[in-house]
Amino acid sequence: MSYIAPIARLVEQFRRLPGIGPKSAVRMAYHVLKMDSAQAAALAQAIVEAKERVSYCSVCFDLTDADPCQICRSEERDRSVVCVVEDPKDVTAMERTREFKGLYHVLHGSLSPLGGVGPDDLKVKELLNRVGRGLREVIMATNPNVEGEATAMYIAKLLKPLGVKVTRIAHGLPMGGDLEYADEVTLSKALENRREM
Ligand code: ZN
Repeated sequence: MSYIAPIARLVEQFRRLPGIGPKSAVRMAYHVLKMDSAQAAALAQAIVEAKERVSYCSVCFDLTDADPCQICRSEERDRSVVCVVEDPKDVTAMERTREFKGLYHVLHGSLSPLGGVGPDDLKVKELLNRVGRGLREVIMATNPNVEGEATAMYIAKLLKPLGVKVTRIAHGLPMGGDLEYADEVTLSKALENRREM
C-alpha cells in the first residue's frame, strides 16, 4: 500500500525510531495529521530544540543543556566517587534511587568484540583522565550481562594500577538485564552491596 508523499515521509521518519514497527509508524503518522496545527508545531519544535540545546557534558558525558552538567557542577556531590554507567538513561535510573551522592561517567556503550565496539569507541580514555583530583573509588555499574561484565573488568584492570579502588555493583540485578529497567530498591541494594574488583 502506498501513501501520498508527505504521509509516506512522515511514516518513514517514525519507522526509524526504536521499537516502532510499520503499523505503529502509520498509526503515529495519522495521529499527527489529526492534531491541530499548534500541537503539531509544538511536537516538531520540541524535537528541534532538544537537538539544539542538549549536548554531552565535557566531564561525565551525560546529556546536558549546560556544560558541565548540573551534577558535575553541584557542590553537594561527593567528588571522590565516580559511578561508571553505559548510558545516560542509567544515570537517570541511579538518580531515582536517591542513594548515590557521587559523580558519574557515561561510557556510551559497552565492549562488544562481536559488535565491533572496542575501548576507543567508548569514553574510556576520558574516564582515565579523571583519575587524580581526589578520586578514591570508581563504581562499575555497567549492565549485568556479558558485555557489561567484560567492560567492567577491562576498566578495572586499567584503573587499579593508578591506585583507585574499583568496585562492582552487586547482583541483586537480574543477569542479562538492563540497569534502566531495574526498580529503585533493587538498584539501591546493588549499589550498597558492591564489592571490590
Ligand atoms: Zn557532567
